[in-house]
Amino acid sequence: MRIGLYFGTFNPIHVGHLIIANHMAQHPQIDQIWLVVTPQNPHKEKNSLLADHLRLDMVREAIYEHPHLHASDIEFKLPKPNYTISTLTHLIEKYPMHEFSLLIGEDNLRTFHKWYNWEQILSKHKIFVYPRASQSDVPSKVEALNLEHPHIHWINDVPILGVSASQIRARLAAGKDCSFLLTERVFKYIQNGGLYRKTEHSKQ
Ligand code: ATP
Repeated sequence: MRIGLYFGTFNPIHVGHLIIANHMAQHPQIDQIWLVVTPQNPHKEKNSLLADHLRLDMVREAIYEHPHLHASDIEFKLPKPNYTISTLTHLIEKYPMHEFSLLIGEDNLRTFHKWYNWEQILSKHKIFVYPRASQSDVPSKVEALNLEHPHIHWINDVPILGVSASQIRARLAAGKDCSFLLTERVFKYIQNGGLYRKTEHSKQ
C-alpha cells in the first residue's frame, strides 16, 4: 500500500487536520493516511502538551469509522529525539510491503532543508505539500532546496481551514465552545476527561 504519513502533536486533533488527511487519503497516489502522533520530549516537557496516550486516543476517536485513516504511535517507542529519517527507516523495516510518503504543510517545506538527513528523505520518498493560508510571509524560494524536485508534489485543491490546536486550547481554557472545530467524539472525549481546563493546563 502507498501510505502518506502526517506527523503532528495533535494536541488536540481538529477539523483542520482531518480535512487535509481525508482529502489526501483520496489522492490517486495514496491508499491510506497514517496520523503519526509525535510524543512528548521528556527533556522538554511542555505544560500544555497532553500525555501521549491521550492525544493518541483522541486521534483514534477522530478517525473512527474512517478505514483510510490510521492512528500511529510508532514514535512513542523510538529513541528521542524523533528524527523523521529514523522513523521512516523503522517503518520501512517493519512494513517492507508499503511505500511511505510524507504529507507536510508549505511552512514545513520551507525549513525542510534543516531536517536531519533531509536529502536522504527527499531522494527516497515523495513529499506531498499543501499550502498554508496564513504563511504568506514565507519566501517563495529556498536556496538549499529545489522546490521543483520530482519528489515534491504540490496539492493545490485542498480546503484549508485557519484553525490551530493552540487556538482551540485557549478557547477551551476560557470556557468557550469548540464543538464545531473538533469531531463530536473528540469534543466529548475532552469534555468527559475535563481536558485543557485552565486549572490543569494554564500555559498555552
Ligand atoms: P499548535 O497550534 O499546537 O502548534 P497545530 O494545530 O499546528 O498545533 P500540529 O499537531 O502541530 O497542530 O499539526 C500537525 C501538522 O498539521 C503540522 O504540520 C501543522 O502545520 C499542520 N496543521 C495544523 N493546523 C492546520 C490547519 N488548520 N490546516 C492545515 N494544516 C494544519
